[in-house]
Order: sequence, then C-alpha cells, then structure tokens
Amino acid sequence: MIIGGQAVTSPNPRPVLMPFDGSQVATIFAASKEQVDAAIASAAAAAPTMREMTLDERATILRAAYQRLLDGKEEMALAVSSETGKPIREARLEVDRAAMTLLFSSEEAHRLCGEVVPMDASPSGKGRWAMTVREPLGVIAAITPFNFPLNLAMHKIGPALAGGNAVVHKPASTTPLSALRMARIFLDCGLPAGALNVVTGPGGEIGDQLVFDPRVAMVTFTGSPEVGLRIRNLAGLKKVTLELGANSAVIVEDDANLDEAVPRCVSGSFAHSGQVCISVQRIYVHHRIRDEFLDRCVEATRKLAIGHPHQPQTDISSLITPAEAERVAAWVDEAKSAGAQVVTGGKRMFRATMEPTVLAEVSSSVSLSCREAFGPVVGVNAYQDLDQAIRMVNDSEYGLQAGIYTRDLQKAFYAARQVHVGGFLINEVPQYRVDQMPYGGVKLSGTGREGPKYAIEEMTEPKLICWKV
Ligand code: NAD
Repeated sequence: MIIGGQAVTSPNPRPVLMPFDGSQVATIFAASKEQVDAAIASAAAAAPTMREMTLDERATILRAAYQRLLDGKEEMALAVSSETGKPIREARLEVDRAAMTLLFSSEEAHRLCGEVVPMDASPSGKGRWAMTVREPLGVIAAITPFNFPLNLAMHKIGPALAGGNAVVHKPASTTPLSALRMARIFLDCGLPAGALNVVTGPGGEIGDQLVFDPRVAMVTFTGSPEVGLRIRNLAGLKKVTLELGANSAVIVEDDANLDEAVPRCVSGSFAHSGQVCISVQRIYVHHRIRDEFLDRCVEATRKLAIGHPHQPQTDISSLITPAEAERVAAWVDEAKSAGAQVVTGGKRMFRATMEPTVLAEVSSSVSLSCREAFGPVVGVNAYQDLDQAIRMVNDSEYGLQAGIYTRDLQKAFYAARQVHVGGFLINEVPQYRVDQMPYGGVKLSGTGREGPKYAIEEMTEPKLICWKV
C-alpha cells in the first residue's frame, strides 16, 4: 500500500493471480482498520497543502504524470494485462487512454474558475457584487473496479487532484498493481506525500470504513449496482457519484451499413471478454436483415483468436475469475432452456475462459437479457419496426449508453430522443467512449458524470463571495 507517501505492508499477504492461468504475478497486503485510518489521516493532513497549491502547480504535476506514464507504457501495460487478464493490445490502449485522462485533467486544472453573479438582477441586490470560486471538497475516497483498473482510477484521481483534493484510492482486490505503480509515479512527479494514498484489500472488509469516516467528504465509486447502492445508503450527507453497470443495447436498422455495423458489434461485444460496463449485450436487428446480420456476426466472431493475454494476436483471453466464467456459462444454459439458440460458442473452455458466444431469440425475461452479463455473450433478436426496437432497448433497469445503425437521420434522432440512457451513439456501438466526453448513466447505471471537465465539477463546490460596494 501507499500511505503518507510510504510503501507499507500488513500481516495479511494476498496473492495477485493472472486470471488466464492462475499463476501468481505479485503479492499485495490487505489493509488493517488502523491502516485505512492512517490513509484517511494522511489525506486529511495533505488536503490543506493541495488546497493552497496553485492551479498551475496542480496542472504541472498532472502533466508530468501523463508523460511518465507514457514513458513507461510497456511496463504499465504488462501490469494491467497480468492483473486483469485482458489482451496486451487492449492493455496498451488502456494506458494510452489513462494518459489522456491525466492530460485532460491537467487542462481542466488550468480552466477551473467560478463566475460573476448578477446580484442586481434582484431589486434587493442593488449595490452588491458577487462571484463564485470553486473550492476543493477535502478528502475524496475513490473506489474502482477490476475491468479498467488504470483508466477508471485516473478518471477519479486526475480530476480530484486538479480540483485541489487529497485522495484515498481503493482499487479492486483482484487488480491493485497498476494503481500502486501509478501512485509511485505521482510521488515521483512531485505530488505531496499523503495527497494520494492507496489501500488494498477486499472492499467488503475496508469499504464501509472508508465510506463512513467523517473526514471523507465524497465517495466516487465505479462498480456494480449492488455495492453502489450500499455505498449510497451508508454515505449519508456525503457527496456520492456512482458509475454502475448496464446491459447495453444497439439497434441495427435495415438501411444500416453492415460493413461497419458488424465488426463494431463484434468488437463491442467481445473486447475484454465482454467485461466492459458498456459492452454490447443486446442487439436488436430489423427482421429484413436479421439472417444476413447474424451470418456475418458469426463469421467475424469465429475469427477471434483465443489465447494468453500477453500474446499480441490474442482477442479473447479470460474472465476475471473461474467463478465468473461459471456464472456466465450458467446464464447461457438458462437462456437455452428458455428457447434461445446458440449460434456460435456457448461453452466455458478452461479455467476462466469462455468462448465468444452469439445467441439468437433470447427471451426478454432471462438473466442474459435483464441483468448485466459482464462476459463474452451477446443476444441478437429481430424486431418489426423502430418503435418496437426502442421499447426493447428501454425495457431495462439500466441506462448507460445505447446506439443505432441507420443511414436515416430522422430515425437516428428520433431514437436518440426516445431512448432513456446517459449517452446515445449514432452509427456507433454503445461500447464507445473517449475520455473527455461526459459519461455516466441513468436508472440503475448510476448518478453523476465522469470525464475530467464534469468530474471536477462534482469534486469541487462553488463558494459565493458577495460584497457591498
Ligand atoms: P464491484 O462492485 O464488485 O467492486 C468495485 C469496487 O468496490 C472494488 O474496489 C471492490 O473491492 C469495492 N467494494 C466491494 N464491496 C464494497 C463495499 N461493501 N464497500 C465499498 N467498496 C466495496 O465491481 P467489479 O466486479 O470490480 O466491477 C464490475 C462492475 O463495475 C460491473 O457492474 C460494471 O458494469 C461496473 N463498471 C461500471 C463502469 C461505469 O463507468 N459505469 C465502468 C467499469 C465497470
């Protein structure tokens, strides 16, 4: 762990395993209650220093961290690939994206400002001038999931530091390595000791303490809806942002360009074995092109290379744990029993690896339709008209992103207005994100928006200063 700028251990070692083959890649240590307390105390002690730092000093540290991350890209990509089991090609992309997230955060630090308030727009405001300044919240607890252990952490740490806060970061217990490396990079780049602490260990054991502690002003969480709801219920009056799961859907109209739609739907469904919060899980295809779309999808899916994540050609490696692969395989069986047809794949292969799987005619009531699959499985169902497809997309407890493929702008914008989600993509799959865009969900997919410009708003508060002329 990193507490107060120091690397510390505890009497509770825990192995970090490569999900693909179960080999041990590192040993980390589960934090004790005293260590979590010390991490919060360090952050609270560093918060005044962060608050007094000029915007340019904060931006300079973030820019230096951006550069250092890129300079050591290959080692960081290997750490990400080893802890998550994601193919090395995708791990390199994650490092590039995390660097961009830091660059955008440094730019937002330069832009952080309040506004002039038109006080005399009220009769009683005559002779008063006022402005707002944006002040840091103090200590922010950042809790992150396993699937993008580096970039999703940077989406919290970058804007928090840009806004002048101190952070206690708790990475997922399976994927702590990139977070620890990154904390060292920040320290090397001049971040004051204590401004970024990393505590490792099971969220179920140390999460409540982080969320409850009165010195923590805000909890920013990315992960499952179950844990998000628990945090929301425990956090009381603290600020909370929640980036949760989804069962994202895309509509493919009969005028769609299938040369584009098919490969994007396949990569959108199977990148990182479907363990992406905006993975394509439900595809609704116009009945006139259903057979052609399905045939082309299956052909592209069968070309995906399954193998060790460090091999450059690998497209599919493994899920995070064997238990997760077992769960996804059981969900496929449940869908089959309810009448779904397995068009390709459908089986668990070895340890945590699952074949990329395309199903057709998936009942809307089975787990694979209504819950978050978080595995390499996609369901393709036909529809008769666009309104029906929109109803099918909206028939979900979640609402993170959705998309449509069509050449007809009328239809595209009609769907964009009717679908209830945080982001709608036209001629793109929902599994698309650049790091500066506002990103977040409605319904069970969460509250609040990320993207450095938007996160920094959540991580600072406006203070009004008014004076009588
Ligand atoms: P998870 O909810 O199991 O864990 C997320 C984090 O919460 C981990 O650090 C974990 O240790 C911690 N945690 C667990 N119990 C806790 C508790 N009681 N209190 C506080 N913290 C606790 O999620 P996961 O399996 O790591 O990640 C997968 C989930 O994350 C999926 O649902 C996925 O959709 C979601 N996700 C969402 C986004 C988004 O931006 N919307 C991005 C990536 C992943």
